[in-house]
Amino acid sequence: MAPVLYIVIPCYNEQEVLPITAPLFLEKLRQLTAAGKIAEDSRVLFVNDGSKDRTWEIISELAKSDPHYIGISQSRNRGHQNAVLAGLMEAKDRCDITISIDCDGQDDINAMDAMVDEYLSGSEVVYGVRESRETDTFFKRTTAQGFYRFLSAMGAEVVYNHADYRLISARVLKEFAHFEEVNLFLRGLVPLVGFKSSSVYYKRAERLAGESHYPLRKMIGLAVDGITSLSVKPLHLITGFGVFVAILSFIGVLWALIAALCGSTVAGWASTTCIVCFVSGVQLICLGILGEYIGKIYMEVKRRPRYIISERTWEE
Ligand code: UDP
Ligand code: MG
Repeated sequence: MAPVLYIVIPCYNEQEVLPITAPLFLEKLRQLTAAGKIAEDSRVLFVNDGSKDRTWEIISELAKSDPHYIGISQSRNRGHQNAVLAGLMEAKDRCDITISIDCDGQDDINAMDAMVDEYLSGSEVVYGVRESRETDTFFKRTTAQGFYRFLSAMGAEVVYNHADYRLISARVLKEFAHFEEVNLFLRGLVPLVGFKSSSVYYKRAERLAGESHYPLRKMIGLAVDGITSLSVKPLHLITGFGVFVAILSFIGVLWALIAALCGSTVAGWASTTCIVCFVSGVQLICLGILGEYIGKIYMEVKRRPRYIISERTWEE
């Protein structure tokens, strides 16, 4: 029997782009159904992430216009990762497969055919991977590439050039539901669940309308979050660096003693200042890294809910 597909789409202040892209998702659902690849009761599931504009009204209207459109609304803005999680968790008991995709039309909707094919031939997770970044600005391209390199250097395993466009089967999602961490970094967590996976390549386009919600500040935040919630390598690095500086200091002490004994001590203001500045800078950075981890632990022990659904377009 053909699998039931839920397309999960996070939306935050997307009133410009939603009316353009929503019909495209529905059309894709129709095509896949017509081709006999997915079941008729498949759905397009919008997750409103506490938008401040008309996004939720648009979703509600869409749901009234066609039963294939459904939507849930988060009680407030919780960020992209939590919105996707809310959608996936909502979908996992109603469908066989989910595909998560942004609502701005940047990810090629037509790649879904290949994703479903991969699922039908045995993959439980299919990653959408960008072939190139020609359409991104030079700045976005370099920062994004730096992002992946830095992540892997810091021990956070992620699929290169894969964002949050992926197919996950309900079976994998049910296992994933046991990963209860509050610090969410989906693209690092999904590979940890395991199961057979494959990749589908596509060209990423420009946003069809509206503006990106991921400026550099948020990208850096995402990188730091990703690294610190997936790996403790930075802690090892600062320990290693601490040992290195300690050895240098020891040599410095010997040097100072010998110089003093030989009676050739000079007024070494510059060297002292440099050393003090350098070591205190390094110490502050190390403290900051430790602080990041303590912050993570703090948030984890609270066990706050990761998402709160306030509204649905259907009756429970
Ligand atoms: N998004 C969200 N909550 C947020 C920010 C963004 O649900 O707090 C959604 C947004 O509506 C879009 C997706 O996440 O569907 C990706 O955001 P965006 O296109 O702004 O990021 P970019 O593609 O520029 O990295
Ligand atoms: Mg986008």
